[in-house]
Amino acid sequence: MTAPVILHDTTVVTGDDAGTILHDAAVAVERGRIAALGHTADVLARYPDAECVDARGCAIFPGFANTHTHLPRVLARGIYEDLSPPHAPPFTGGLAPLPLPRITPEEERVLALLGALEAIRSGTTLILEEGAALDVYAAALADTGVRLVLCERAWDRTKASIGQPGPFEEDGALGEAGVARIRALHARMHGAAGGRVQTGLAAWAPDMASPALLGRLRKLQDELGVVASVHLNQVWGEVAAVREQRGVLPTDYLARAGFLSDRLVAAHCRCMTAEEERTLGAARAAVAVNPAIAARRGLAARVDDLERAGCRITLGTDNMAEDMVEVTRTVLFMERVRRQDGRQPTPEAALTWATRNGYQALGIADGGWLAPGNRADLIVVDLKRPHLTPALRVVSDFVHNGQAADVRSVMVDGRWVMRDRRVLTLDEAAIVEEAERIARAAWGRLFAERPDLERPPGLDVSPR
Ligand SMILES: [Zn+2]
Repeated sequence: MTAPVILHDTTVVTGDDAGTILHDAAVAVERGRIAALGHTADVLARYPDAECVDARGCAIFPGFANTHTHLPRVLARGIYEDLSPPHAPPFTGGLAPLPLPRITPEEERVLALLGALEAIRSGTTLILEEGAALDVYAAALADTGVRLVLCERAWDRTKASIGQPGPFEEDGALGEAGVARIRALHARMHGAAGGRVQTGLAAWAPDMASPALLGRLRKLQDELGVVASVHLNQVWGEVAAVREQRGVLPTDYLARAGFLSDRLVAAHCRCMTAEEERTLGAARAAVAVNPAIAARRGLAARVDDLERAGCRITLGTDNMAEDMVEVTRTVLFMERVRRQDGRQPTPEAALTWATRNGYQALGIADGGWLAPGNRADLIVVDLKRPHLTPALRVVSDFVHNGQAADVRSVMVDGRWVMRDRRVLTLDEAAIVEEAERIARAAWGRLFAERPDLERPPGLDVSPR
């Protein structure tokens, strides 16, 4: 049995309902849970045999929950951010005019771990990973020590991509294969690592899934008792495609198919009507707002409207980046600009979306906030930094001014995943080097094989 750990002489942002912040405080962690919170002297006296960690000059925050990402998509970093689909017809489909280069499963695993490194370094303790064939890197991700909800994707539209109007060519075998992958991943990974790893399921998007498949996935969700995810009202091409194929708007389409529920995490929700927002809110669905990619695409979810309608607001990174510190600030910036309001949302609200709401949406009500008995998923933020000094209102300070590099340590289930800025579960130098080599070679091969493709300005794929 490992000794309790006490982080002492520090500031604790509990994330509780009252927004309590404890000063001159300590957190005791035992058997993966928060054992005690309180004044340093009191907590130290209760656990005389504890391992003591001096956290002076730091603040303890709940860890971030990233409720929508695709870790290996770091492959398209620096390329896809500038190639978003158009907001008006003609819609050609896909999220970028360049195809993603083909890579081997082994290479995909390295890129997923690169994404995980960035996630951990920005204080992420919980990740909802969505994708196809997650079994390729699921075990490697589990070994990173991060809490996971792995949502394997199903779809049954063939010869088309997301956001592409035109006929819905249904391929039953494609849908079957997705359902089979979901079941297989569930059997293999659900409850792994002492329950730290769970699986869910995902319908790719409304324009990629038939009503029959959506109904099937909804039943499977109930049978397995898991969270579901979907890309919803992501781009205007998707809206056009669903209107053409089904004669309704995407959220109404999912509602008719019975796919909306309070255990659904709908990613994006930005190209939608107020009526759709009300429909989604009435189902008490969670929304994974992905503000950093949304801003890059020139789009924004109406976060306040979605929240008022009844949706639980959570935050994700989506593609090409895994920095939840940036995401938390970006949603606040975007929403203040959109609302023409220099006070709302508050940094406290943004932090709740990024932490506790994400945990709740993924079915982990005792995580994402710090209270005795809750899961010990927390981060240690270094406040002794020029851009954070003076740290007078610690939540506002970190949300407005913080950087991923301010995160000093990360704990999940009471275990250190990063300690004093060293990620303990991954060989960072080797992964960074290997990922650079893989990406250069993959993009180099693509442009060599497809000289018709337009090379983005400044592109260099020469080996290093
Ligand atoms: Zn996505």
